[in-house]
Amino acid sequence: MSHDTIVVGGGVIGMAIARALAPERSVLLLERDRPGRQASWAAAGMLCPQSEAEEDGDLFRFGLDSLSMYPGFVSELRDETGVDVEYRADGVLALASGRDEMDDLRRRAAWQRRIGLDAKLLDGDAVARLEPRLTLQAEGGLFFPGDHQVRPRRLLDALERSCMLRGVDVASDAAAAEVLSAAGAVRGVRVGATEIHGPSVIVAAGAWASSLEGLVPRVETRPRKGQILSLRMPGPDIRRVVRWRHLYLVPRNDDRLIVGGTDEDVGFDRNLTAAGVGGLLDGARRMASAVGAFPIVETWTGLRPMLPDGLPAIGEAGLDGLYYALGHYRNGILLAPGTVEIVRAALEGDPAPAYAEAFRPMRLAESVSADRV
Ligand SMILES: Cc1cc2nc3c(=O)[nH]c(=O)nc-3n(C[C@H](O)[C@H](O)[C@H](O)COP(=O)(O)OP(=O)(O)OC[C@H]3O[C@@H](n4cnc5c(N)ncnc54)[C@H](O)[C@@H]3O)c2cc1C
Repeated sequence: MSHDTIVVGGGVIGMAIARALAPERSVLLLERDRPGRQASWAAAGMLCPQSEAEEDGDLFRFGLDSLSMYPGFVSELRDETGVDVEYRADGVLALASGRDEMDDLRRRAAWQRRIGLDAKLLDGDAVARLEPRLTLQAEGGLFFPGDHQVRPRRLLDALERSCMLRGVDVASDAAAAEVLSAAGAVRGVRVGATEIHGPSVIVAAGAWASSLEGLVPRVETRPRKGQILSLRMPGPDIRRVVRWRHLYLVPRNDDRLIVGGTDEDVGFDRNLTAAGVGGLLDGARRMASAVGAFPIVETWTGLRPMLPDGLPAIGEAGLDGLYYALGHYRNGILLAPGTVEIVRAALEGDPAPAYAEAFRPMRLAESVSADRV
């Protein structure tokens, strides 16, 4: 068996890359489970560089750039697969319940406006006009018209169909155990006792990347558990994404309201907990008391793939033909189209955007040797 490119991991990142490279290249996508059932499936789908960022920087610039690619990305997917991924550009409202939180929103509005972005400070009355069913006594809020959302499970469905249509060879229940190499160059991948040959391998294995043998540099992923749930919202009580502290409410186009999310450092534990789910529901009811009467539809968890410095690793790794696309932590849905472009540039030897330097996989080797000194 031989392919031009082998992608390890069928989450949003692996599938977005695989479809982008096909059909010009023969691509094999290896997925340990079924495609699109891990972190990407668990995500809320906020495309929120502005409401997520504390400061300007490479990750922020990357998020803005990737978001700017979304309209083209989703319309191409719709034309190709017929799947509407419910891309919504109706903005995100961040709430402040006290003076300190409002000061924080003011700081954020100030630096974002300085670089030409739209961020509207609102007083309590303006918040109530925008979202009349909120019951949190808000000091005020900050509205980000530029932050958007998408429905991740539909996005994954569209990506998988697109992979099929473009002739990607998608292998489910196929866990890569090792990246094979000789004389500093990739030879392929081992799955169980089977060797699959190919001159380039792209590792997009999310929180599990660290268990893959043969990686240069080694990868240390730190899974971050997110507990999250959905409610049935009988009417349009919440109109757009609303965030308060670590909580968010995300209304879908049908009657679903997503309430998320915890961010826990508990290894590979995937349990739902009383504190996790209880905290989400209490917070949601403080934001909008009507939520207390909404039926619970589903509860679930996912493992966000985080690297020690919190940044993704995207691009050429330490063997000829080895590339990483992993560690997207809280923003992998947002960063998927931008990641495709960085990987494509690396494969074709084209220049990448300046911010991509911060995501060089080889920095992982430098931090390991620095730790040892
Ligand atoms: C509760 C929650 C809410 C979130 N909300 C948002 C949000 O609103 N917006 C946003 O942008 N991001 C959000 N995220 C983050 C986002 O989900 C992740 O950053 C993104 O899904 C990472 O994508 P991935 O493809 O790297 O990982 P995954 O989706 O986990 O995919 C990795 C895949 O690799 C496979 N795999 C692993 N090892 C192997 C192997 N050895 N061989 C073959 N296959 C392998 C796995 O089975 C898996 O399918 C959220 C995450 C969580 C948990």
